[in-house]
Amino acid sequence: MKVAIIGRANTGKSTLFNCLLEQKKAIVSSIPGTTRDRNFGQLEWRGQKFYLIDTGGLDIVHDPAFEKDVVKQAKTALNEADLILFMVDVKTGLMPQDKAVAGILRKSRKKIILVLNKADTLALKKQTAEFYRLGLGDPVPVSALNGTGTGDLLDIIVKNLKSKPAAGTETATGSIRIAIVGKPNVGKSSLVNAILGEERVITSPVPYTTRDAQNIDLSYQNQNYTLIDTAGLRKRAKVSDRLEKFSAAQALDTIGRADVVMLITDVSLPLANQDQSLADFIIEKQKSLVIVANKWDLIEKKDPQTIEKFIGYYRRFLPFLNFAPIIFTSALEKQRVKKILTMAIEVYAERFRQITDNASDKFLKNLIKKNPPKKGKGTKRPKIYGFKQIGANPPRFELVKDYQSDIHYSYLKFMENKLREKFGFSGAPVIIKVRRLG
Ligand code: GDP
Repeated sequence: MKVAIIGRANTGKSTLFNCLLEQKKAIVSSIPGTTRDRNFGQLEWRGQKFYLIDTGGLDIVHDPAFEKDVVKQAKTALNEADLILFMVDVKTGLMPQDKAVAGILRKSRKKIILVLNKADTLALKKQTAEFYRLGLGDPVPVSALNGTGTGDLLDIIVKNLKSKPAAGTETATGSIRIAIVGKPNVGKSSLVNAILGEERVITSPVPYTTRDAQNIDLSYQNQNYTLIDTAGLRKRAKVSDRLEKFSAAQALDTIGRADVVMLITDVSLPLANQDQSLADFIIEKQKSLVIVANKWDLIEKKDPQTIEKFIGYYRRFLPFLNFAPIIFTSALEKQRVKKILTMAIEVYAERFRQITDNASDKFLKNLIKKNPPKKGKGTKRPKIYGFKQIGANPPRFELVKDYQSDIHYSYLKFMENKLREKFGFSGAPVIIKVRRLG
């Protein structure tokens, strides 16, 4: 289950996010890296686990098309979440952007909780009247700063998550969509069957009218997943059925619809051009990725260096996928097949990682001091004025530079690697846009 916090900049989304994650009874996920430095965390309240997403990363502060961004943010949240916390600020009162977002929310069938933040005093807490005009029901007053009202808010969240979905929305929302792609015979069907068979994770096959039969919804450790485009992968047990053709168009389409892609490879054979073309699609579509090295059981006489040796080989063959974690599985021996699901949530969460302007400033200063950009085609050495994150899902950065000089692509790649070294973003694409001043 996923709960997204949306609202204008400065309504206190991140403060609420941090505050909820710090609640005494709220258990923060043991997923490594799920800490407050990113805008995605797991909570448990009265036995109900859920993920909290702070969409604050979508505020693009210096963009004049500000209203458009709030609307975009609302739409992203509507796609992603089961429940939406829509934050307004009692101190500033109702603003035009609030109304624009409320309009979109009302039209959706998602459940919305209207959260009235900065209700720090009793007097402020009572100023709810004008917010009823949004048509989103009773506002819930909280103070994210001092924590008042957040226990009640968590109760309301949990009550909403446990109740039936609104009519017409009974799709597997909040589900992480996983594409299982790879060449024929690498073990895709076997892995899907191993995941489904061993863990018995299929949720009851409710005939969703809006779902198509090629997708499998399943739930594992309180998280919904949808394996997409599995037609032809599902029960293919007979050898005569294994005449799968590699269709680039099909793969491209499947990858396009996924949140996370699992690139399945056969570790017992050399990597091939088809693996590389799939890799290109995944990069082109800016998807999160896990590389799965299947048939690990076929590798004999493994010693502690064997994994490193294979990782080295994969990295050399697929250098542009060096941001993706690699896991070694055996569908046959059911080794680490569940890990495919937990890795999916880990890399998905990394798409929401957000670093502060302060941290990116420091990062830039350090980088320039140690490794300044070289002279390009221009005559002067490029001058970088600023660098900061301007968005999430996937993480996007903006680098501001002088007008004349050129920054070589390899420097941006170097920068990306350094960013990853320092901040993570494992499995997620990182996009660096260059803006010229002047
Ligand atoms: P797909 O075409 O990618 O869906 O591959 P399949 O799942 O049909 O598997 C192709 C062949 O590889 C079958 O003979 C499977 O039994 C075998 N296979 C799949 N996974 C493994 C594995 O982990 N280890 C071994 N030894 N064989 C596997």
